[in-house]
Amino acid sequence: MSREPEAVAGIEEERLKRAIGLAVEAQASAYARYSGFAMGAAVVGIDGRTTRGVLVENVSLGLSMCAERVALFSAVTEAIAPVVLALCAPRTGGQLTFPCGACLQVGLEVASAELLVVAVDPDGVHDWAPLVTLLTRAPKRHTPVTGRVAT
Ligand SMILES: [Zn+2]
Repeated sequence: MSREPEAVAGIEEERLKRAIGLAVEAQASAYARYSGFAMGAAVVGIDGRTTRGVLVENVSLGLSMCAERVALFSAVTEAIAPVVLALCAPRTGGQLTFPCGACLQVGLEVASAELLVVAVDPDGVHDWAPLVTLLTRAPKRHTPVTGRVAT
């Protein structure tokens, strides 16, 4: 099942489709030599710019990095304000694979609770949810410059 992107409040279909397409493309470059669980991700920014990330594994497991975090870190590097984060990965237990908690927390830090998170399988079947619905009780981001706590 894939929900129609026009149903996403504030995010036009074009941005959603770009994020999905870039995540699917990125998956082919994943460095998943240990797990074989290839993951690619893409971010679309508020200004329409994009960036990608791939899973990068390491023989020392703790040094591996999820594709979504690579994409989010790249967005920070390139001063892109993410509004869509798409992840292309194999299904997990028959279900679309959404980002792990660590990646969602990073998304909350560098984007917002409204970040649209899209899970897509290699066949292009996808679903989405606002980050806030995936990480309901996460520690809130604190912005030192303003002193306010982001929602
Ligand atoms: Zn992750």
